[in-house]
Parts: sequence; structure tokens; C-alpha cells
Amino acid sequence: MTRNDEHLEKLKAAEDWKARKILIALCADAEISNKAAKYLDDMNRRSNTLETLHPKRKRSPSPELSICVQCEKVYSKAANTEMLCQYHNGELEPDYGSRVWADHDQRCHGTINSDYCRKEYPDGFTWTCCDQTGTGNGCRLSRHQSDPSKNKRLELDEEASEVSASEEFEEDDETEESDDDGQEEQDREREEGHRVKRRKM
Ligand SMILES: [Zn+2]
Ligand SMILES: [Zn+2]
Repeated sequence: MTRNDEHLEKLKAAEDWKARKILIALCADAEISNKAAKYLDDMNRRSNTLETLHPKRKRSPSPELSICVQCEKVYSKAANTEMLCQYHNGELEPDYGSRVWADHDQRCHGTINSDYCRKEYPDGFTWTCCDQTGTGNGCRLSRHQSDPSKNKRLELDEEASEVSASEEFEEDDETEESDDDGQEEQDREREEGHRVKRRKM
């Protein structure tokens, strides 16, 4: 178990009020607070939609919505059976030859190889997994994943990822309420993490 896994286990077991205090303290970082506020807006939007669709449905005791660590979208756990998660599993590297940087003076416009520039000028970067620019759609498909320790996006190197995607049998956080279609589940797992192109052939 890595250090990060240990931290995750601890955080998952933390009481809600503690988790909330930690979140608020983390929001001292503007980047994190923007992200957290966006996740909340997305979740509110999704839960309003769910209530409109099923006004009479009893509230599920465990929250129905999760946030995907691969594509950063809010999704419904119950509906997470299809390969709707599209993501890259490489690094976003600067393309210094790109026209985007023609008039970019790093002394006044900021270092190119930075999180800031990745976000502001995605066209000036290239994904190592598929050679697309930073605005290109994800080159891998899987189901959404809310557990950071099972984040397929962090499985770098395409060959390794395909092997591990076919060998591993992961359990989702909704395992408790899952049904008995183990074989189907396994088949689905085998497909996960494959290249988008391969699946279109
Ligand atoms: Zn890619
Ligand atoms: Zn996703």
C-alpha cells in the first residue's frame, strides 16, 4: 500500500464534519476552491435533474452521485455501466514549436511548462499518449471511476495500460449494491482502458 493509498483510506473513513473542515481548509488554494465549487455546481445540477425525473423516488441512503477522477465529470453511480468516460493516460507536454508560443515571452507571460499555461493555452501542448493537442478528446475509454487509487488515467504507457486493463478486476464503490452478473462485469472490465481508436475499428 502506497503512502497515498494510506491517506485515502484514512480520508474515506473520516467523519463528514471533519471531511468538510478539511475541504474548506484546502480551499485556501484558489485553484482547488475553483475546482470544488465547480464540482458542487455540477452535482447540484445533476441532483436537480434526478429529482425532476424521479420526483417520487425515495432518497437513496448513500448518495447517488459521484465525481470521476479520470474525466472530472459528475456521474450517477447507478447508471455507470457503460464506457462513457473518456480520458488521456499520458502527460501533457509543451510543444515549443507551436504557433501558440510565437509571441509568448516567458519573462512576462509566464513559464510555458506550467499548470497555468496548460490550462490557459491547451493548444500549445501535446498529449504523449496520442499526440493530440491539449484540446483533443480523451483517447481512452472506460467506466467512470470515483476512487483515486483506481485512476486509470495515471497508468502511463499505453501497452502496460492495456495489459493491466485486461487483467485487473476492480471493485467499484457501489459493490455493496451490485447484482450477480459477475461474468458480464468481468467482460466489461476487460474492455476498459482501451484506446478509443481500437474500439472504433
Ligand atoms: Zn491521449
Ligand atoms: Zn469519467
